[in-house]
Amino acid sequence: EARERFVASVRGAASVTTTPRRRGEPAPVPPLEEPFRNAADADPSVAIIREKATAAMASRPDLTPTSAQASSLEEVDDVVALAQAAAEVWGQVSAPQRAAVLADVADRLEARRWEILSVMAHEAGKTAGEGDPEVTEAIDFARYYARSALALADVDATFTPVPVTLVTPPWNFPVAICAGGLLAALAAGSAVILKPSPSATRCGEVVADVIREALAAAGHDPETLQVLRVPEDEVGKHLITHDGVDQVILTGAMETARLFADWRAERPGGPAVYAETSGKNAIIVTPSADIDLAVADVVRSAFGHAGQKCSAASLVILVGSMATSRRFRNQLLDAVSSLRVGVPQDLGTGMGPVIEAPSGKLERALTTLEPGERWAIAPQQLPAPAGSEQWQGHLWRPGVRSGVRPGSWFHLTECFGPVLGVMTAATLTEAIDIQNQVAFGLTGGLQSLDAQEIAQWLEEVEVGNAYINRHITGAIVQRQSFGGWKASVMGPGAKAGGPGYVAQLGTWSEDAERW
Ligand code: GLU
Repeated sequence: EARERFVASVRGAASVTTTPRRRGEPAPVPPLEEPFRNAADADPSVAIIREKATAAMASRPDLTPTSAQASSLEEVDDVVALAQAAAEVWGQVSAPQRAAVLADVADRLEARRWEILSVMAHEAGKTAGEGDPEVTEAIDFARYYARSALALADVDATFTPVPVTLVTPPWNFPVAICAGGLLAALAAGSAVILKPSPSATRCGEVVADVIREALAAAGHDPETLQVLRVPEDEVGKHLITHDGVDQVILTGAMETARLFADWRAERPGGPAVYAETSGKNAIIVTPSADIDLAVADVVRSAFGHAGQKCSAASLVILVGSMATSRRFRNQLLDAVSSLRVGVPQDLGTGMGPVIEAPSGKLERALTTLEPGERWAIAPQQLPAPAGSEQWQGHLWRPGVRSGVRPGSWFHLTECFGPVLGVMTAATLTEAIDIQNQVAFGLTGGLQSLDAQEIAQWLEEVEVGNAYINRHITGAIVQRQSFGGWKASVMGPGAKAGGPGYVAQLGTWSEDAERW
């Protein structure tokens, strides 16, 4: 109850007030003078970014993992024991001191921006245009959660940290989502174990290095953050279900989240799993829409990071006369077919590689049509340029399939890649119905200049993040806290980068003695 009251009190607050300072404590993080930078506003083509990113990406960073790899149950036990020991100390550190560490992490991430971009490009296939805003998002998380920690010190209830939090980030946002989970847990006073994504291990390790440096610089124990690679077998399961792990922050496919939740449930009264999972997201375009804007937003939402975002648009639903608009069709197909597909190290690349060479659902989406569908643009595999054999089999010209029918496989299935399906609807009501038929409810978009349409859509759409006349990826910390609805979310959960996210990661009780 106390937690709910606190969350309600800060919901919608533009910034969080600082806490009164006690003698001997570090100065609070300065109040927010400017709104968080819009990661998506950053223009990656500005000269300085090009110059620095070119230099950073030219040389291949060492991608050899540096963290421990557990190969036995005992090795997992040892790491959990280290985290538990560190938790006893970190749990006593004051909120302002925790906030100061996070503020320092933000500065250190900024200082290592180019190195991080390079690791992301070489290991995780992120172009500079996608990777640069991601570093910015990680920095925003650090500053935002620093303020969330300060807010915890300023409430009429006792907040008690949960000792050990396990964070398992995804490979598609290996820096921002990784940093977000680690920093939120540290802000809440937990010791943390990072299980880096096997496809983006170095990315996670670099984020962990930065955080451990900041901990050490402030005189705290860097072991407060443990990094442990585990195989996906009994050893991995042992970590995830470990008695010493009190809560899990997970971002990944719904199947993975279910697996975690099932394993955790084997522990009676098991701890919380905060899971952000899959999406199958659509943008509705009505006849009142600004076509230039709609096309740009659809293309960006569908093909940014080759569509490998839970937030990506993989459906566009055209309403009424928009379904037969030649202008929309021509502009959309021109824009898609002129996207320059290439390797992430090349700054001219508009769309980078598909990370997991297509199999299963993505392979089906790229190669097989359903009844009534046809390719407006057929996807096509491209050879990797000489010297970039790493991406052989991973470069695909994006595809657009038209005639996708309500209830069909492509309508309802998340495919996680560069394929956009076009659907049509007679009315906005029908379009919203199509949008809501999917089991997930992560993001959704409406392109419309009609106030009544906008009001109806906001009332009826079943998604966590609803965007009007904007691309539907790249949620901005504080401005657009990120989180799903329906099958896109599992467990309790405030949205990431928003009020209550840090507060939910501890336990609460009334504090009768507090004035
Ligand atoms: N937060 C990201 C966005 O708004 C998406 C996260 C994900 O794909 O897992 O685009």
